[in-house]
Amino acid sequence: MKAGRSVRLFEAAPRLGGVIRTEQVDGWLIEAGPNSLQENSVELSSLIEELGLRPEKRLALPGARNRYILRHGKPCAAPLSPPALLTSPLFSFGGKLRILGDLLCRPRTRIQDLSLADFARDHFGQEFVNYALNPFVSGVYAGNIEKLSARHSFPSLWESERTHGSIIRAQIAAAKAKRARGERTGAPPIVSFRTGLEALPQALGSRLPRGSVELEARVEGLTPGPTWRVIWSRDGTTQTEEFTSVVLALPSAALAEISVGTLGERPLAAVEAIDYPPVSSLFLGYRRAQIAHPLDGFGLLVPSVEQRAVLGILFSSSLFEGRAPEGHVAITVMAGGVNRPDLGRLAISELLPKVREELAGMLGVTGDPVFMRHNAWPRAIPQYNLGYERHLEVMERCERDYPGLLIGGQARDGIALTACIAAGRKLATRVGAP
Ligand SMILES: Cc1cc2nc3c(=O)[nH]c(=O)nc-3n(C[C@H](O)[C@H](O)[C@H](O)COP(=O)(O)OP(=O)(O)OC[C@H]3O[C@@H](n4cnc5c(N)ncnc54)[C@H](O)[C@@H]3O)c2cc1C
Repeated sequence: MKAGRSVRLFEAAPRLGGVIRTEQVDGWLIEAGPNSLQENSVELSSLIEELGLRPEKRLALPGARNRYILRHGKPCAAPLSPPALLTSPLFSFGGKLRILGDLLCRPRTRIQDLSLADFARDHFGQEFVNYALNPFVSGVYAGNIEKLSARHSFPSLWESERTHGSIIRAQIAAAKAKRARGERTGAPPIVSFRTGLEALPQALGSRLPRGSVELEARVEGLTPGPTWRVIWSRDGTTQTEEFTSVVLALPSAALAEISVGTLGERPLAAVEAIDYPPVSSLFLGYRRAQIAHPLDGFGLLVPSVEQRAVLGILFSSSLFEGRAPEGHVAITVMAGGVNRPDLGRLAISELLPKVREELAGMLGVTGDPVFMRHNAWPRAIPQYNLGYERHLEVMERCERDYPGLLIGGQARDGIALTACIAAGRKLATRVGAP
């Protein structure tokens, strides 16, 4: 639109934002899907500025810097710096030495992809895989590190190994380079907005010209030609419109269903096979006195070796201000994922007793929550598993075969919100390009 092109946006749901959904009830602010985003690029900062959202932006509270990881059933503070690693009880002495073994790794270009777990084992050893990588990846992908592809799920680590060998040395070099450019170093700020993350898609939608957004409009098919014909339907009525280019920013099941051409071909049908495990997000509100743990951090990650019924717990009211009424706290419990899809599919009546038992042991929670919201995501997050290049090739081939059709978003460019936003920008620059 800024490039002077007119745009039409078709959205199957009655609202914009997809999985970004915020609810506000009686002083509680509930994120149904994502809870925060990393402000990790100049482009994202300028988008926030352009949308007039700067006054609304909220940085994670300073205490949220702490991370906890469950070890032997109890929360253990994660080391946040190399000196803290040396004194942390999270890793044994042998485990710490093995982590430092990464410093000896020489640069290498691997011909074959390998699992994220194998990649990290090579660099940091098994204890790191169990108590750092596994819980971290559960928190991001709800995935299985033995299945996730090192090359596709964390391309920056893959590149670090190629350029520096050691991942630690690559991080140090990147920080030095940033300092030399006068840029901020360290982890990028974690942000949301006063009224929650949904402020972002709402602001984006409000900037589109009147009449350009079509809600409850399911795109069913596309017909290429001198112009693209988009076939979309609402309430059983089908309509068509002509465009010079079409951008598909859809989850893979929706990509797979789209017909392209007059004979009902589905060139993206194969991406249906991308694994999307179910995840349940349970927002629980308590009176402060009901939780013994100080909740002084971002949350508690749970390694699979601990064999628990939850993937992780976000300390929502410690993460951002205004998430719980005075005298109360809010936590968000995630369950399910690739390793325990059965838990991600449970009805709340079955899930809650399991969660309550875990919360009592892990955080010293007593009594019933005073507020609760359950949001179930039957197909939550695409898994960039080993062999993912076959899905990327299907998308690339489709773009090649059908000039003017562009595909991007979570199944192609990364799952984090910031990756989806960057993909959107990239797609916008490709619209109309030869
Ligand atoms: C529970 C959960 C927690 C997460 N937490 C975080 C987090 O804290 N931080 C982070 O960075 N990321 C997080 N993520 C990941 C991130 O939120 C997603 O990867 C990202 O929001 C995906 O955006 P998207 O627009 O690609 O897909 P979606 O949000 O799924 O949007 C796709 C849209 O396409 C529409 N649609 C589908 N089919 C059609 C059709 N045929 N025609 C028209 N419209 C159609 C849908 O209605 C939907 O609105 C989380 C994800 C989940 C599920």
